[in-house]
Amino acid sequence: MERETLEMDVVFVGAGPANLSGALHLSRLIARHNEGVASGTIKGNPLGEIEIGVIEKGASVGAHVLSGAVMDPRALRELIPDFEEQGAPLESPVLEDFFLYLTDKRSFRSPITPPPLKNHGYYIVSLNRLTGWLGEKCEEAGVNIFPEFPGAEMLYDEADRVIGVRTGDKGIDREGKQKSNFEPGVDLLAKVTVLGEGPRGSLTKSLSQRLNLNDGKEPQVYSLGIKELWELPDDRYPTGRVTHTLGYPSDSKTYGGGWIYGLQNRILNIGYVTGLDYRDPLIDPHAEFQRYKQHPTIAKLLEGGKLLRYGAKTIAAGGLYAMPQIYADGVLLVGDCAGFLNSQRLKGIHTAIKSGMLAAETIFHAFMKGDYSAQQLSRYETLVQDSWIMPELRKVRNFHAGFKHGRWLGMANAGLQFISGGRSWGLFDRAKAEAGHEAMEKLSTLGYANGDMSQRYKDLRFDGKLTFNKVTDVYHAAVGHDEDQPVHLHVLDTDICATRCTEEYGNPCQRFCPAAVYEMVEDGNEGKRKLQINFSNCVHCKTCDIMDPYQIINWVTPEGGGGPDYKGL
Ligand code: SF4
Repeated sequence: MERETLEMDVVFVGAGPANLSGALHLSRLIARHNEGVASGTIKGNPLGEIEIGVIEKGASVGAHVLSGAVMDPRALRELIPDFEEQGAPLESPVLEDFFLYLTDKRSFRSPITPPPLKNHGYYIVSLNRLTGWLGEKCEEAGVNIFPEFPGAEMLYDEADRVIGVRTGDKGIDREGKQKSNFEPGVDLLAKVTVLGEGPRGSLTKSLSQRLNLNDGKEPQVYSLGIKELWELPDDRYPTGRVTHTLGYPSDSKTYGGGWIYGLQNRILNIGYVTGLDYRDPLIDPHAEFQRYKQHPTIAKLLEGGKLLRYGAKTIAAGGLYAMPQIYADGVLLVGDCAGFLNSQRLKGIHTAIKSGMLAAETIFHAFMKGDYSAQQLSRYETLVQDSWIMPELRKVRNFHAGFKHGRWLGMANAGLQFISGGRSWGLFDRAKAEAGHEAMEKLSTLGYANGDMSQRYKDLRFDGKLTFNKVTDVYHAAVGHDEDQPVHLHVLDTDICATRCTEEYGNPCQRFCPAAVYEMVEDGNEGKRKLQINFSNCVHCKTCDIMDPYQIINWVTPEGGGGPDYKGL
């Protein structure tokens, strides 16, 4: 197939906060250098025009970006010191912090907010809007942004050096045939490619496997955050109040917690995080969130309110020991796909922005030297080590691992870490970590073999007022995919689904997917069942790629522009 080749200098894959910050910072560093050389204040040669491109699989910048989100503004202030005056879309400064422990029926407010969850001086934001605003800043600075261009494949030279990225083809039908609107993907060649795909990026996954970037690292573990926006009938929850909760509905062996943030105009941002290293294959993170809303305290808060929006996204929670090597020949990893999130503070926007800026500084120096080798780009690792990111992540390096031993030991570990600066004296070390899907136990091990599979959520009803089924929620994520395209969820061995997986785990894909994509249906053959993939529901959260116990689900990018539209989320 004939493909167009486009030569750029730097290609950023994914228009999230890390990459947009990186692209903006890089364009300014280059402009400042060129102006300095022209005015004689900087010695040396100008770098000239450097073509910087950002490709994005969503229909617009921010369409696939979802977060809680309370932002520590430290990195944004470094990038744009007067971001408030420049009109950054900020919902509200955080005005008060609450921390609640929920039992089945009651809630207890902690007299003190745990220090990692103190948010004074921070901002509640819509990350979708903030990302859109950063995109505008990039375009003003001359960065080219290409929405609806998914990165489908990494491009390598004969020595396995990354030389760019191939974007996805458009206009392929369900059977893989070209339609009348067919357009082949473009080979974008770049001296440096920056992957900022978010958690479990599909290109990051293949690159890491090919170049062994995870060698010597602990397996990454993830959590799934599910979020809804509600409109309340009155001012019962003030703008700027931030509440975090622990306890109900998670059992004490499962990592989980909730958040409630007060936005402007009586809008409530509410969500629940479930650790994707749970043992019980019957856990359904979406159902956990629905149960969360049924807690008397939360239900009272939402009474008379109206669901506006829905979204789901994973976060990389493994911390420092699970970070891959973040550079290789011609390529850098930034933001969540490199695991920069601080899981104890549930914050990754500030580290994502900072990682993008440090990547930009690395690339700037690489251009000054005309060297894009791994050795030159390893400067990025040094810059990260010397920045404020490292002390922050080092202090919480064993945080998530502690919860492997249950909620109470996890909390005790978190407290000890706070005092000790991250030490955990062996018991909670990431060295004992396993990938999330490995933690899942078989049904027989948990005693579910006697047909009591529905017990976990037997009282859960979707009333359409407080609780919603997945299909209704997906409607509120404004998901759209052209139905006539190849399925972008590749199940590498479907024979396992109706046999081993049914027996061993009860087909957990039907539960861990928050968008009702996977369904076991009758196959019309002597009561046998088969897997049906409703791919057009997919909200691109990547949970299936992470959590499938046999690791046979491979999430790849669908046709550009498909997926959720997280406007305002
Ligand atoms: Fe998330 Fe996978 Fe379901 Fe898509 S199919 S919504 S990526 S779990």
